Amino acid sequence: MSGNSASLPGTGRFQIDLKHNCLYYEGGLIDLDPQDFKVFRALYESSPAFLRVQEILDIAWAGNNPRTFVGPNSVHQSIPKIRKALSDCGNGKILWIVGKRNRGYRLAWQGKDIEREHYISLKSHGEPGTGVLQDRILSRVELTDTQLIALDIFKSLLWTYQFPAPLHVIEPGRDEWRLQRIDMHGNGDRGVLITARFIDRRIPDSMFYFSSTGNLEWTVDAEPNLLDHDGQSLPRAWAFKHVIVSSTPAGSTVWAALINNAGWSGCVLRINARGRATVQFANAGFVEWLCHTAIDGDDCLIVCGENNAYDLPFVAVLGIDDPPCGSAPGGRSRYRYANGPDGNTRKYILFPKTELIRILDRPYGHANRMEQSVDNILVAVEAAELGAHFRYHFSLGLEPKYVFPSGNYEFQHRELEQAGKVNHLWPNCPEFAEPLPLKLWTPQTGWTDGTIRWRDNPWKDDPAD
Ligand SMILES: [Zn+2]
Repeated sequence: MSGNSASLPGTGRFQIDLKHNCLYYEGGLIDLDPQDFKVFRALYESSPAFLRVQEILDIAWAGNNPRTFVGPNSVHQSIPKIRKALSDCGNGKILWIVGKRNRGYRLAWQGKDIEREHYISLKSHGEPGTGVLQDRILSRVELTDTQLIALDIFKSLLWTYQFPAPLHVIEPGRDEWRLQRIDMHGNGDRGVLITARFIDRRIPDSMFYFSSTGNLEWTVDAEPNLLDHDGQSLPRAWAFKHVIVSSTPAGSTVWAALINNAGWSGCVLRINARGRATVQFANAGFVEWLCHTAIDGDDCLIVCGENNAYDLPFVAVLGIDDPPCGSAPGGRSRYRYANGPDGNTRKYILFPKTELIRILDRPYGHANRMEQSVDNILVAVEAAELGAHFRYHFSLGLEPKYVFPSGNYEFQHRELEQAGKVNHLWPNCPEFAEPLPLKLWTPQTGWTDGTIRWRDNPWKDDPAD
């Protein structure tokens, strides 16, 4: 068998070929359509743990056309087809799918406990398999502050990697993007991409890509080749802020948003499957977050952050296959790069300086997070102190839709009223009387003035008193 094939637990009569995406029972091919195979594979790689429906969607539909609607029903329609296929083999008592409300699905198999012991003892004696796993396959990875630990389907150790220095630990809900499983080469082998931030800040942030067998294929340091407007080097204080991956059948591309902690600069790096990094977007300020969209059939990135040439937060869209580009022209020239790319973004939008930001005498609020849904890109822009945002909604093509305040914005407004810093009451706030202004730039139109309307005001409903 090749390195990408294995027998499955449950008497070993099932065989999976991860290179060709095929499942066999006693040597005969099981008829599963490619999408159902991907669902089966996601369960296989994580069993015996449960996978939630959203996790199955994230894994099994990764890299599909983003305009095709996918939701929980896609999973619920796939599971019965896989169950039917498995139940046709060995009376359905060898390998099957268990589903639990609120926990999702997992694979289960006959005689698993005995087999697990048998399997481990076989591996530890280095004997060739006799109907059990021939090649153990990476199922789960764990990251500690010093080590990457790779485990197989039985949570037995496959390999480890010791980092050169201790790392910041990943915080759930904040930077899970630092650990991703990706099929870098488009050959079915899902490796591990780690974006490491070292505790010792003298060591640059670094990205590590491992094959599923633990081979460190490449590393990329956060050190883009950009010079300031005078042609001088920028401080060596770059950090990765966010990393996403776009996939095609030919393989994956890694996109990294960077900021310079000792200065004003930021960019997006494009990193190919061999770990070659080039600047795809050089911005006159931090780039804080990325997402992936399609416009008129073209793969695009949406990026957000700040623009120091205008002292305003921004969101922009760039074509993945367009030439590398810089931020929109104009503003203060000292925030340009001597060697920045010449191309253009498809659209560049500046958010306004809003009321409380002005009153608090802050230079601007950061656009530090985006969320993507089926038909929305949502950009959260700081609108006062910590915890107060304006949430700007755009279409997937970055057409402005509406905006509303969120978090504790109303509370902060009222606090500033009481402190005498705001001269009107929240229900009478003049900022909500008119749509908010936006500055829009495209290569075809140059700069134009636009607006974004307030969403109907549910936050100003009758007071509950
Ligand atoms: Zn106000």
